[in-house]
Amino acid sequence: MSSPEMLKEADRVMVICNSCRYCEGFCAVFPAMERRRTFTAHDLKYLANLCHNCRDCYYACQYAPPHEFDVNVPKTLAELRLETYREFTWPGVFKGLFRQNGLAVALVTTLSVLLVLLLTFLSKGPAAVFAIHSGENAFYQIISYWAIVIPLSALGLFVLTTLLKGIANFWRETGGTPGELFSPQANAQAIWDVLQLKYLDGGGHGCNYPDDRFSFIRKWFHHFVFYGFILCFISTTIAAIYDHFLHWPAPYPFWSWPVVLGTMGGVALLIGTVGLLVLKLKMDPSPAAPRAFSMDIAFLSLLFLTSLTGLLLLVFRETGAMGILLAVHLGIVVGLFITMPYGKFIHAAYRYAALARNANEKLAEDRLAVDPTQNKA
Ligand code: SF4
Ligand code: SF4
Repeated sequence: MSSPEMLKEADRVMVICNSCRYCEGFCAVFPAMERRRTFTAHDLKYLANLCHNCRDCYYACQYAPPHEFDVNVPKTLAELRLETYREFTWPGVFKGLFRQNGLAVALVTTLSVLLVLLLTFLSKGPAAVFAIHSGENAFYQIISYWAIVIPLSALGLFVLTTLLKGIANFWRETGGTPGELFSPQANAQAIWDVLQLKYLDGGGHGCNYPDDRFSFIRKWFHHFVFYGFILCFISTTIAAIYDHFLHWPAPYPFWSWPVVLGTMGGVALLIGTVGLLVLKLKMDPSPAAPRAFSMDIAFLSLLFLTSLTGLLLLVFRETGAMGILLAVHLGIVVGLFITMPYGKFIHAAYRYAALARNANEKLAEDRLAVDPTQNKA
């Protein structure tokens, strides 16, 4: 549960903002806030996940510190958002991974890499690991087909289940109805908002990030990470279809769909993660939740290492380094999969749910404007 002090502070800040309304053009949070006169815990958790910490409202605020009202919307909502990550996660027994998240991610990933390396050496022996393998099935000379497919499929299913359960928990705990969750119109709007990263535009001038100057740089690096991730996902899916259904095992030629898309995605991820890491290290910490810092750094670093080792594997796949690189890359991917639902990645699920909820509210508002006899749902 979110702590009462945190909810009380979020309520205090939103009540002040709802009287002021100066920032209503900056993002979706303020119009959503204006639809309410008072704020339940459900409302505050929803608004916390609708905010993406662009900081525009912090630098524009006449009541921000050192003013005695001490209004710091991005920090307040970021603190509450972190609490919701723990609250909505499933299974609850793993929620402790959100505490000292950087350390937890580093430990899990290091252990995953060491375990995959150890199992590879024990099962194949050093001679096979350091030998040059080429042509079809080269990867499976190092790690067998089933040793790759079974653990990664099981982990992929686990991540998907955890994300869907998290969205369902978010929806229930923030007062949404099942009908709204599956509304085609609202989901289409939310998907479009995500594809554009719409609210990283701020009020049209960009975010105040990493400092008080307006900039689109954070949005562009986000785009690199988002679309890089999507390209890598599509590449992996095509490779799985080739391998399992067309019986064409990896590695694939450079000018094949999995390699071209995976290379583009990997390079985009490198650019995006390095850019966001640099911005994160340069950012003004005042409008941020201090506890989020290690979580953000851990997730970006893990994505960076995943794409870097994937690209190194591509470059050196016909040398004696391939065995080690394959084991290290798979170990990092295992670490990524295990920690995905218990770190920064989970924000993608809750942000999407918050955007879908916001789209539902806007649709209801539009319907009411057309036909005032309708009650707000
Ligand atoms: S953040 Fe400050 S300026 Fe913006 S609406 Fe709230 S109180 Fe007003
Ligand atoms: S930090 Fe940005 S996204 Fe969050 S409430 Fe302020 S203006 Fe909106």
